[in-house]
Amino acid sequence: MPASANPMVPSDLDAWLSANDRRIHEELFEFLRIPSVSARSEHNSDVAHAARWLHQKLAAIGFSVETIPTAGHPVVLGEWRKAPEGAPTILVYGHYDVQPPEPLELWASPAFEPTIRDGKLFARGSVDDKGQLWIHVKALEAHLATRGTLPVNVIVVAEGEEEIGSEHLGPFVDQHAKRLAADVVIISDSAMFAPGIPSILSSLRGLAYFEINVQGPSSDLHSGSYGGAVVNPAMALARILATFHDADGRVAIPGFYDAVRPFPNAVIDGMRTLPFDDAAFMHEVGVASLGAFRSKRARTGRRKVAQESGATLAHHVRRSELVEVVLAKIAWKNQVHQLIEQLGDATLRGQRRVFVVVDVAVVREHRVAAEASRFPSIRLEGGIGMNALTQV
Ligand SMILES: [Zn+2]
Repeated sequence: MPASANPMVPSDLDAWLSANDRRIHEELFEFLRIPSVSARSEHNSDVAHAARWLHQKLAAIGFSVETIPTAGHPVVLGEWRKAPEGAPTILVYGHYDVQPPEPLELWASPAFEPTIRDGKLFARGSVDDKGQLWIHVKALEAHLATRGTLPVNVIVVAEGEEEIGSEHLGPFVDQHAKRLAADVVIISDSAMFAPGIPSILSSLRGLAYFEINVQGPSSDLHSGSYGGAVVNPAMALARILATFHDADGRVAIPGFYDAVRPFPNAVIDGMRTLPFDDAAFMHEVGVASLGAFRSKRARTGRRKVAQESGATLAHHVRRSELVEVVLAKIAWKNQVHQLIEQLGDATLRGQRRVFVVVDVAVVREHRVAAEASRFPSIRLEGGIGMNALTQV
């Protein structure tokens, strides 16, 4: 994959990247061949190998590097602090550990043997996070090799426990807070929005998990004798879990949003311009509808894409043998009408049953029922939870 001349890249860097393209790839392949699976103790020596490897590579481009042990896997800390007085310091975070590769039979090529197919690189860790981390290291190398300096101070922090919850990163940061002080933190552990669309992620979703034990009766009970009188722990648990979110998908736990800052308008505007395709997204993840959060967000923007997704979906219905089509979001009136028009088409009618789930708000706002009634084969089934079901 030779680097092509890119007008966005200054010519000296572009020339250097082209000249070093083969080596950069070969080194990345070396990195990817190390099975640094942090979750498996039998891979501990591989995880240590990956840390050593990265340490050497950072040192080779002119960083001062230290591999700092933690109670788990070590943190590789690279520093370059020769920027002019007053220059800002940026910290690049990444991780050199990877997820276990199982189930192995689902790999078309071995997980730890990088393989290029259709212009894409396949290997465990190639997009999480060795590839991204490597891009940062090589960008730094390109600058240092061609210009001998960087305009900013740079700290690279690479941990080996991201895939197992980063248990020891917090204590590490606390312990080295002064040394890690930076004006900007760049998380390398993220993705481009789509090929050709580089992205700046302004926030990431986190997670919190808990184990809940619900205690029930001491033995199995006959439903005829005890049902109703004794609470079924499975039902109690379902009720507890159902209280975590409201019908709009917002977290309903008191205080949850207290420290959450609202998105600046510029970020919201930026998100609205992204060419997100709901139908393609649903197809990719194999679901028939999207969550309320997604559809609500969709209603707030992206008129143009919504127009496209309506047509795409109808096209998909015709092309495939789908018996269930779901439209979690048709945000704009024209598209609802257009889709119904297309689904009501004689070529489709009578061939198979197609279910169209339309967000209930859309049904209300755009009088989908009235529209659907124009076609004898379309029947509105009524609300199902958040959605209404239309049957063709
Ligand atoms: Zn990651």
